[in-house]
Amino acid sequence: MSFLKGKTALVTGSTSGIGLGIATELAKQGANILMTGFGDVDAPRQQIAAANTALGGRVEYHGADMSKPAEIEAMFKFAAEKFGGIDILVNNAGIQFVSNIEDFPPERWDAIIAINLSSAFHTTRLALPYMKQKNWGRIINIASAHGLVASTGKVAYIAAKHGLVGLTKTVALETATTGITVNAICPGWVLTPLVQKQINERAARENIPVAQANKELLQEKEPSLCFSTPEELGGLAVFFCTPAADNVRGVAWAHDGGWTAQ
Ligand code: NAD
Repeated sequence: MSFLKGKTALVTGSTSGIGLGIATELAKQGANILMTGFGDVDAPRQQIAAANTALGGRVEYHGADMSKPAEIEAMFKFAAEKFGGIDILVNNAGIQFVSNIEDFPPERWDAIIAINLSSAFHTTRLALPYMKQKNWGRIINIASAHGLVASTGKVAYIAAKHGLVGLTKTVALETATTGITVNAICPGWVLTPLVQKQINERAARENIPVAQANKELLQEKEPSLCFSTPEELGGLAVFFCTPAADNVRGVAWAHDGGWTAQ
């Protein structure tokens, strides 16, 4: 299958975890991929390229910091030079910080709002003109179960993810008569570095083995007692790109083992 051949997907934060899974699944459908994110770039880039080079797809990387609007603008100039624009935008880059509000460092609040929420405002306003030219586009925002319900200790993350769901609905309405759709995916727990850190902190705090902390984390929220995987979330992102999803607009689609059904 290569129904995305000739289309270009920008997946923010695709050097790791969910973003890497989504970029790989879109690449398997032939899409060109513009990667962003920090840390090791070579191994994830090879993983994505292995999925699309046989289909004629290309992979490029830009090191934009999603908390810096000027760097996001530079990334779009790069996308225009390399690919002539963006057809699929996946707003995935995100960070977490856990603390009660009284002890929450204001600079952590600012960073989470900038990376997890404001970056999607900037990428969306910059991507839409390219999508409108072709009257086709897909914007997929990686929110969270925490975009639908709250927990303690994550005030900035939960405010940002609820905001991202609101942004999704608004832009879905503003593009409702076009070939551009805007939707959010709301994962429950996914075993990526972002969550592994929380499991390790829990094990240390409660003085329990990591395996037990892992089990408790799932039992607390997810009736399925299973993690969602980056590959499954990539499969859902691919579905949003199919013609079957042409009229799916403004949804916040939970992939959370029943977390938000409770
Ligand atoms: P991860 O830590 O594995 O990956 C995060 C990615 O974002 C990395 O590529 C990182 O380099 C990039 N990134 C971080 N700060 C950046 C910045 N300033 N500029 C550019 N890139 C930056 O985390 P993940 O679990 O794969 O999370 C991806 C997204 O999924 C996040 O938005 C997260 O909130 C969301 N999410 C994760 C889970 C989960 O259980 N892991 C659940 C729900 C939602």
